[in-house]
Amino acid sequence: MKKPVIICVDDEKIVLTSLKSQLSHQFSSKYQVELAESAEETLELIDELIESGTDIPLIIADYVMPGMYGDELLVRIKEKLPETLSIMLTGQATAEAVGEAVNRAGLFRYIAKPWHESDFLLTVSTALDSYTQKREIQRRDRFRHVLAKVISLALKPETLDQQLETALTSLLSMPELASGCAAIYLLDQNQEQLELRTQWGQESDFAASQPFSTECEQRVVPNGSKRPCRFYLPLLYQGTPMGALEVKAQSSANCCQELPELLASYAEALAGIIQLKQYHHALEKHNAELEHTVQKRTKDLQDAFEQQSKLNNILLEANRKLDFYASMDGLTSLYNRRFFLKLANSELERARRYAHPTTFLMLDLDYFKEVNDEFGHLAGDHVLEQVARMLVAESREADLIGRLGGEEFAILSPESTLQQATRLAERIRTRLNKEIINFDGHSIKLTVSIGIAEVGSEEPDIQGAMSRADKALYKSKGTGRNTVSIAEAES
Ligand code: GH3
Ligand code: MG
Ligand code: MG
Repeated sequence: MKKPVIICVDDEKIVLTSLKSQLSHQFSSKYQVELAESAEETLELIDELIESGTDIPLIIADYVMPGMYGDELLVRIKEKLPETLSIMLTGQATAEAVGEAVNRAGLFRYIAKPWHESDFLLTVSTALDSYTQKREIQRRDRFRHVLAKVISLALKPETLDQQLETALTSLLSMPELASGCAAIYLLDQNQEQLELRTQWGQESDFAASQPFSTECEQRVVPNGSKRPCRFYLPLLYQGTPMGALEVKAQSSANCCQELPELLASYAEALAGIIQLKQYHHALEKHNAELEHTVQKRTKDLQDAFEQQSKLNNILLEANRKLDFYASMDGLTSLYNRRFFLKLANSELERARRYAHPTTFLMLDLDYFKEVNDEFGHLAGDHVLEQVARMLVAESREADLIGRLGGEEFAILSPESTLQQATRLAERIRTRLNKEIINFDGHSIKLTVSIGIAEVGSEEPDIQGAMSRADKALYKSKGTGRNTVSIAEAES
């Protein structure tokens, strides 16, 4: 690496010789001293040094020189080298010229000729320290900036490739890596082969062409005058290999001592970003799978609910039918005993609430057994059906008609007085008495006995009225049948 250069400018050779001797004695281990006898020569020298990448921390300039005054020269130098410090060394400069140099060229110190060697060397030493410190702070700032940039990527919602590209751009923006190139490789699924993911700068096959290694490597490539410097750094996240970083600096002269350290921290941060992204990726995939499973389960569940709901409706309908059939008498389609009594009791409750009169009729066919005996059981059944139809035809819509069993029927007639009920009973008795029921070539004639009872407004259920109607019915049976009898009022 080339030593940084201190430039001394003076039109008097003897001054230059003296400066070089004093400076070399003190600083030759770290700095090289270059001399120039005029402003033009100085500017040319600076161009050459800049071209070769040599650092110029300090310029010590005379004030009075042919062609250009020292303050003017320092302003010109400031334009080319803004960081370079300058010391003006003259016995002739006016306070105005010094002020100009301080204001426009950022003059570090003014030293009057003739100078004291020790004062002069102390001033130079202070200037060099100040320059070095400033450069160091700048470098650290740049390093911190690059690292902060990489770490901040962790919060960006970009793809991994976008993040890696941003990371490389940021790294190569440092002057230490000017015109360099860099590449990031990730390990393949088998953790064996490195695959190029992002590359910035010239073609490079350094990391890809060699097997993955967990060792860092720094190589100065010997060919060419500028001697490029290459770094290979494994990307390890808590010891787990993720990939590799390759960096090529255009000139090893730029590779300051801290660069390997920066690259190590950079590689560590990068490995963290990659790990985070891969973790994120795995999590997203897992979430998507979970979402899919949940959706499928929800759909299955909805289907199952739909099926269940359909099944429930079918069951409800079946139960309704079952209830209906359970409430009917199979032969006559009238209400069976159980259901008739149930309905009759609810009807009574309603009648009680509105204080409506209700009557109960008990009917029993006379000598029905003889129908069976004479014409057969089927004929008996037919008669029962016909009688049921007749009862329906003679009753009102509101009347409840039931078959209590065998050839015994009952009618609950709501909102009907004893008188109206008696008329109904007489209608039925008369009609049946006249009716001839035909079955299988036989003409069947029969009569009915009826008992009527009024339901008292205070009666809790149908039982009392039923038993009174039953008694009245037996009265009809006892008085020769084919008769309507009215029960005595409730005691
Ligand atoms: P009474 O005038 O005293 O009422 O005489 P009855 O013959 O009508 O009465 P009884 O109780 O002696 O006979 C009733 C008959 O009804 C006996 C039974 O076999 C018959 N029977 C009951 N249920 C059915 C049925 O569903 N179908 C048929 N064909 N006959 C039935
Ligand atoms: Mg009977
Ligand atoms: Mg009978």
